[in-house]
Amino acid sequence: MSARRVAVLGAGIMGSAVSIDLARRGFDVTLIDRESEPMAATSRWNEGKIHLGYLYGADPTLATARHLLPGGLLFTELLSELIGGDVDGHATTDDDVYLVHRDSVVSADQVGATFDAISALVRQHPDAGRYVVDVSEARAAALTPAELRAVAGEDIVAGFRVPERSVDTRWVADRLAGAVAAESGVELRLGTTVLGVEQRDDGSTPWRVHGDDGYEERFDVVVNALWNGRLPIDVAAGLTPEPPWTHRFRLCVFLRTRAERELASAVVAVGPFGDVKNYNGRDFYLSWYPLGLIAQGTDLELRSPEIPSGTDAEAFVDGVRVALERVVPGVGRVIDDAEELTVEGGFVFARGRGALDDPRSGLHRRDRYGVQRLDSYYSVDTGKYSTAPWLAGRLAAEIAG
Ligand SMILES: Cc1cc2nc3c(=O)[nH]c(=O)nc-3n(C[C@H](O)[C@H](O)[C@H](O)COP(=O)(O)OP(=O)(O)OC[C@H]3O[C@@H](n4cnc5c(N)ncnc54)[C@H](O)[C@@H]3O)c2cc1C
Repeated sequence: MSARRVAVLGAGIMGSAVSIDLARRGFDVTLIDRESEPMAATSRWNEGKIHLGYLYGADPTLATARHLLPGGLLFTELLSELIGGDVDGHATTDDDVYLVHRDSVVSADQVGATFDAISALVRQHPDAGRYVVDVSEARAAALTPAELRAVAGEDIVAGFRVPERSVDTRWVADRLAGAVAAESGVELRLGTTVLGVEQRDDGSTPWRVHGDDGYEERFDVVVNALWNGRLPIDVAAGLTPEPPWTHRFRLCVFLRTRAERELASAVVAVGPFGDVKNYNGRDFYLSWYPLGLIAQGTDLELRSPEIPSGTDAEAFVDGVRVALERVVPGVGRVIDDAEELTVEGGFVFARGRGALDDPRSGLHRRDRYGVQRLDSYYSVDTGKYSTAPWLAGRLAAEIAG
């Protein structure tokens, strides 16, 4: 092995995981990010669902579930190795409830049938015993009318309990940032915006990486894990992105209550609706998709929109409260009890086009992410947070040959 100097672009969950993995394999890694800390962007501000595939109930081919399963089942095990500690106490302990909205793009019967098929895939998977909880007996249990009335509001027509879990992404972000900083084989270069990567044909170090602060360095291998910033750098490096794709920026509410609150972790399916995540009785994630979608585009890159603050943030939270109360009553009480509340968000990159209220939209699938390669340049579409440690491990193994 002669190629040992690696530039990893982007210190989200993908870049951080691949950097730690490569450093442990003996590579000299430089991890570059424009933020002042690793894990400061989308990987810090998302829901943290460790996907088994149920969210993609509008993909009857099950291709998405098949693509998400291997990484989802091993997520906590691989994350624990990366951060050198247990995730226990930072993942949800109850099943998620999927609530089918009256305007769902898929009928409740179809959702039930797809969920049954996904449960069979989960049960048959050889790693089913390695998920956060043992899912080798996974079932999607339909809620009885009484159970549904206890958790759901007027716009909901059916519900299913599934064994999916989620992690507190802010806790993970702090731990992973600490693990990257502690890894002696990783040099962190923060506060640098990557402007380009070009191939050199004049020597043994083929890739020139340059940034906005006059930064310039050569590397044997480049891993592009820039997420929303990935495609322009791919183009500069000579890799042509394959359409279609859509970038979106989604705003959400992250809050901590004063006292423990009982509220089910609920996903409103299937379409442009919302989610409630109750991580531990006090830390919550709330989203209402039509309000939270504050930017989207099909250009190479979507610039970061302005995050609302002050009265704009308050108006956003009020809107989320009103919308979610119709589907998950009790959200308002949780918001009223908040001792800490943040409006934040992140990017979603998807290999599809259209709107979530269109059942034919490519956004209802997530089965085409992964790694594209040009010589020793690797471009990673992370796809999902929950598959990142697994994908990072496979990529590091490929680079190590
Ligand atoms: C609201 C929301 C909810 C979500 N919920 C879930 C969920 O429940 N489960 C799940 O699996 N996935 C979820 N996702 C998707 C998931 O968050 C992403 O797939 C994942 O975090 C992407 O990780 P990443 O490391 O590729 O990107 P990021 O975390 O965004 O890391 C990329 C890094 O690159 C840096 N960067 C970008 N451009 C440049 C540049 N030119 N120069 C230097 N640095 C640059 C950024 O600062 C950033 O730190 C959600 C996403 C959103 C927005």
